Amino acid sequence: MINAKYPGLPDADEIDIAALKAKYREERDRRMRRDGQYQYINGTQDTAHTYEADPYTTETPRDPVSEDIDVAVLGGGWSGIMAGVHLRRNGFTSFRHIDHAGDFGGVWYWNRYPGLQCDNDAYCYLPLLEETGFMPSKKFTDGREIREYAQDICRRYELYENALFHTMVEGLRWDESSKRWRITTDKGDDIRARFIIMANGLLNIPKLPGIPGSDEFKGHMFHTARFDYDYTGGSEENPVLDKLADKRVALVGTGATAIQLTPFLGRYAKQFYLLQRTPSCVDSRRNEETDPEWVKTLQPGWQMERRANFHRGANEAFMPGEKDLIRDIWTEVNCNLSAELEEQDWPELSMEEFMARYEEMDFRVMERLRRRVDEIVEDPETAALLKPWYRYQCKRPTSNDEYYQTFNRPNVTLIDVSATQGVERLTEKGFIANGQEYEVDCILFASGYEVTSDLDRRWGIPVFEGRNGVSIYDHWNGGYKTLHGMMTSGFPNLFTTGYYQGALNSSLPYNFEVQVEHMVHIIKSVLERGAVAAEVTEEAQAAWIAHMRETEVDRTEWIRDCTPSYFNNEGKPDVDENGNEKYRFYLGELYGPGWDAFLQLLQEWRDAGDLPGLKLDKAS
Ligand code: NDP
Repeated sequence: MINAKYPGLPDADEIDIAALKAKYREERDRRMRRDGQYQYINGTQDTAHTYEADPYTTETPRDPVSEDIDVAVLGGGWSGIMAGVHLRRNGFTSFRHIDHAGDFGGVWYWNRYPGLQCDNDAYCYLPLLEETGFMPSKKFTDGREIREYAQDICRRYELYENALFHTMVEGLRWDESSKRWRITTDKGDDIRARFIIMANGLLNIPKLPGIPGSDEFKGHMFHTARFDYDYTGGSEENPVLDKLADKRVALVGTGATAIQLTPFLGRYAKQFYLLQRTPSCVDSRRNEETDPEWVKTLQPGWQMERRANFHRGANEAFMPGEKDLIRDIWTEVNCNLSAELEEQDWPELSMEEFMARYEEMDFRVMERLRRRVDEIVEDPETAALLKPWYRYQCKRPTSNDEYYQTFNRPNVTLIDVSATQGVERLTEKGFIANGQEYEVDCILFASGYEVTSDLDRRWGIPVFEGRNGVSIYDHWNGGYKTLHGMMTSGFPNLFTTGYYQGALNSSLPYNFEVQVEHMVHIIKSVLERGAVAAEVTEEAQAAWIAHMRETEVDRTEWIRDCTPSYFNNEGKPDVDENGNEKYRFYLGELYGPGWDAFLQLLQEWRDAGDLPGLKLDKAS
């Protein structure tokens, strides 16, 4: 057998799919809120908490910068770092990174909570492993190791010398007379960049639930993206949260962050309440240390092969005879399916038949994960509350070997707040859940990030104007309009990373790397042609959008049936609150033919050599 089914996977006749579908729908419906994404407050606008402040690096005062440069890279996370790598590789010297953090790293800079690890196979996730020779210490490596590796790449590619940290961009304006973007910042800078690469990430702005009474609570509060070790005790290196020994602590949220953090709060707090609206599914972690003997066997090209294998396992399907190299929660459905199809000698299946088999396996895997809860959690009522009732990948799948075990501790209480669609209210002394007041000293929020909110909230750049002073927020108000998800008409020399009208790869840094590599190719080509500006023609943009729509794979039914979250714009995946077609699919529109086809399409576009669909401006 090439692939083996996971132990404990129920047979198809052990589950009742119709009954499960009804249960999933019921669980979804009772969580649907009329206010959708507007239930949240932008964390950076919450004046009671200083999310703008950097708890990790002391700011060094500097004079304002006034200069002309070739490229401004807005953001120092993985996409910004990889943009810098490709700019350097292509001989660029006149570029700057601008970031409000005190160093490179993006989410891995800001997030330092206890238990932080990469939830994805690090051998796929971390870029440039073959080039740098770096090997992560384990499969799901620690946040600190990721940050240090990211910063090591920045040193190798000499990105530090150009970086402006602790700097918030306040305005981006296209200046037609100079054919440059004028960038203004909170440090008084006036930077005139020929090109801009938006590398501002998906999880850059923390959000808070707009719980009534939030201003009344007199205890301590913070978001997990600014973990307050001064309050809890311990440190990132030594997360012994000893100052919590006499504290009653509540954590709001049960997403990927909370799953990692919960075991630490359960271990150290005098009393720990976990406030859950929708449970995550949590598999065993099986986080093995990197085997040096395995490393010796790796042949050149191994990382791209592994990433391709991961992508098929997590988002598409394994090919007949293909081994699952990843074998974790992300690939389990396809791994089991491949094992069963192999047992049956790979029968010929139509797409519909294959999708039916996939769907059945999805239900079986979720049932296995629910049974896992019963095996570990001793109190049956708590176990029942912890069971996830939705399809696989409706909420980000997680793995942890201490999460469920935490609920067997006497000082830990799970409080289900789904009946009130979230925490009912905060009070001076604590919170109210299901009509009862609980007194606590501290409330932590693992409540996520602005992912599908309005773009101005999500990007946090107050003024963003293209040609003729048109705001990008107005330009995209009725939906994204791009070529390949990276350039938009009316905004010359501007490149956007993300999921708008492009393809999705499960290794996010790789996903962004492909985009920034393409952008740097365009920038170089434009300058080599003696041009100063490049803009997508309306026709090319319209043709790309039409191609996206013609080839789209309609996933709205699946995504709409999921419990609400940022994956489906809080249950409203295709329209915004006013009925506009604003959020087609969850994080934008995805290219129907898939990742490999998108890569090929970009390659063919570059090979064409004449930058098809771009209008070049040769004025000086
Ligand atoms: P999420 O957005 O995934 O989760 C937010 C949580 O807060 C949800 O459980 C949500 O409940 C809950 N919540 C929101 N409002 C309320 C309310 N009013 N009352 C009670 N609960 C509420 O945020 P995370 O920080 O967990 O994760 C965000 C993303 O960050 C992940 O999806 C992942 O992409 C990334 N991440 C990556 C990690 C890695 O290892 N690579 C680790 C951690 C995070 P509900 O589900 O009902 O909306």
